[in-house]
Amino acid sequence: MDTVVCIKQVPHPDHFSHITLDPVTKAIRRDGVPLVVNPVDRHAVEAALQLRDRFPGKVTVLTMGPPQAREALEEALAMGADEGILLCDRAFAGADAYATALTIAAAIRKLCPASLVLCGCETADSGTRMVGPMLAEFLDIPYATNVRRLDVTGEDACVAEADLDGGRMKVELGLPALITVSRAMNEPRIPDVMGIIGVADKTLSTYGAEEIDLPPDKTGLAGSPTRVAGVWEFKKDRRSEVLQGNPRHVSSDAVARLRELGGL
Ligand SMILES: Cc1cc2nc3c(=O)[nH]c(=O)nc-3n(C[C@H](O)[C@H](O)[C@H](O)COP(=O)(O)OP(=O)(O)OC[C@H]3O[C@@H](n4cnc5c(N)ncnc54)[C@H](O)[C@@H]3O)c2cc1C
Repeated sequence: MDTVVCIKQVPHPDHFSHITLDPVTKAIRRDGVPLVVNPVDRHAVEAALQLRDRFPGKVTVLTMGPPQAREALEEALAMGADEGILLCDRAFAGADAYATALTIAAAIRKLCPASLVLCGCETADSGTRMVGPMLAEFLDIPYATNVRRLDVTGEDACVAEADLDGGRMKVELGLPALITVSRAMNEPRIPDVMGIIGVADKTLSTYGAEEIDLPPDKTGLAGSPTRVAGVWEFKKDRRSEVLQGNPRHVSSDAVARLRELGGL
């Protein structure tokens, strides 16, 4: 059973405070911010590797991003994925979730059709949660989101258990299908030395818009129906005050002070 796992390289969550917004271009400035595989995407890679143990096939990891996104693919290859695909082209820059999903769908259709497409349920940077469902729509396959447990029940079906607000849902999907994986699904493995050494022998190919038959106006900023109308940074202004004395008075003083400051 062949599986494609979509992964995104994102700024390291511990360094989010160093990300700034360019008020003119409205782009995100990430200069000097270390990049990592989007945390929940590592759970999606792990899920694919565990499924491969039971249903032999190829695990392909795919990302759309700048040249340095290759590092994210290398990490997934070190975990055990078989092959990597980097979608990298100036024409892909500035893509919104729609153009991102359309581009990935074109690549999967042309380069690596699979029984299962796995995504993370959301990214740590933009976090729209839209790429997975849109990708499924473009591929015209069923999907389930926020999945905590996945059982492939045969050649042509799987059962997914998903977390909902205040409950859980179990659905059966015909294959091929797309699943967005939650952190609850597994504990991703840490690549070992042999895995890291083995990356050099694995295929990691780069493709541009032409190679996946996408006209330039269908991808990147040109193919994005969304436009960033404005960007703001919220400057947090932190102050502290220590109230001392009798606990009963302190608590009523704290409430009065919070009211005064507009906090209540
Ligand atoms: C007009 C506009 C301009 C933008 N410009 C920029 C910009 O310059 N720089 C920038 O960083 N962002 C930019 N963005 C944000 C960018 O569009 C999103 O990062 C992108 O659409 C993916 O959406 P998401 O991160 O919300 O993914 P989600 O929907 O939250 O992701 C869910 C899952 O989809 C998969 N996935 C998501 N993105 C990718 C990918 N690229 N490759 C493979 N799998 C993926 C992963 O499995 C991920 O876990 C822009 C957005 C708009 C609207």
